[in-house]
Amino acid sequence: MSDTNDHSEPARRLATRAVHAGEPEPRIEGAVSMPIFQSATFETAGEKSYDAVRYVRLNNTPNHQALHAKLASLEGGEAAVVASSGMAAITTTLLALLSRGDHLLALEGLYGGTHTFVTRDLAEFGIGHDLMDGNRPETWSALLEPSTRAIYVETITNPLMQVPDLEQVVRFARTHGLVSIIDSTFATPVNYRPLESGFDLVLHSGTKYLNGHSDLAAGAVVGPRELVRRVTHRLNHLGGVLDPHACFLLHRGIKTLVLRVRQQNENALALARFLAESPAVEGVNYPGLETHPQHGRARKMFSGFGGMLSFDVRGGVEAADSLLNRLRIPRSAPSLGGVETLITRPATTSHAGVPPEERVRMGISDSLVRVSVGIEAPGDLVEDFEQGLEGIS
Ligand code: PLP
Repeated sequence: MSDTNDHSEPARRLATRAVHAGEPEPRIEGAVSMPIFQSATFETAGEKSYDAVRYVRLNNTPNHQALHAKLASLEGGEAAVVASSGMAAITTTLLALLSRGDHLLALEGLYGGTHTFVTRDLAEFGIGHDLMDGNRPETWSALLEPSTRAIYVETITNPLMQVPDLEQVVRFARTHGLVSIIDSTFATPVNYRPLESGFDLVLHSGTKYLNGHSDLAAGAVVGPRELVRRVTHRLNHLGGVLDPHACFLLHRGIKTLVLRVRQQNENALALARFLAESPAVEGVNYPGLETHPQHGRARKMFSGFGGMLSFDVRGGVEAADSLLNRLRIPRSAPSLGGVETLITRPATTSHAGVPPEERVRMGISDSLVRVSVGIEAPGDLVEDFEQGLEGIS
């Protein structure tokens, strides 16, 4: 068992790798399922370097190693490391790759935690940034500085589901010698292949689709061995380690990733199509709809459009809240990517900290509703939204 991708393995398809990659060979005591090694420390056996010492904070228990190998295989990377949350993976990666005096180019409209870290916290470490419009590559060169080291984007933005020009991001990074980093939480390895598309590092909030059951927090970083080594080194010191039990749960969750995401793609498309036809709805943001401004780009790059959508309800906040109250299947909660459908009004949850005038500028109205579509029967979801919307119109 090693925590890097074993390229001597046959190149199996994604669904097979999700189940089998990284599993210990031979099985431990014959256990078909990876056991939990709930041990903080391990007996020494003549290790010569600190990195070889087996200790839970060094991210090298058997559960970490198996999970790292599974994730590396899933994303087609050389190596992977997990962290205690998506934010731990993101902040540790940025602090591993950037130092005082460096400059970062980051996408406008990133996940709120990342946006705040980039725009406020990094400055305290002496690291500068500029924000770029993901749809206007012609404007990016003007933002470059001699100290620009990396470019940071997301596959699909929250909550308006914009799809930046990722092909141009890769090209731009290569031309200017930048490390390209993508948070692909929304797309998952099922719908988009960042490393095969030319990105250097892919990050995930494992809390969302990778685990898929809304019952843990985790993060992941996948890419070339040397970059992952640098992130791991920083993570060992910052200490955002994933507990072995959470490793076990994430490992188990990943086995059904492909099945779940395929169903979520199908359900979200069905729901988006229904909502687009509803007179009670003003506009639906879903990259799988032909009306989405970047639909062509999404169709070219993605093999599925994902489980996330948002829409405006006619009748404003009152109507939106009334819909949330009337729906019977979705739980009203933030977060996303679980098997159960979740619904939220971003102005009151994920974007509550953004001043109202700034939200308007970003195109996020108070009546915008975001749905993380689960794996329920699509007919039941559509029927539930149908009854919910009927009641408010
Ligand atoms: N990245 C994206 C796209 C997210 O939506 C989130 C959380 O919502 C995160 C990162 C942060 O993940 P976590 O909550 O696991 O720290």
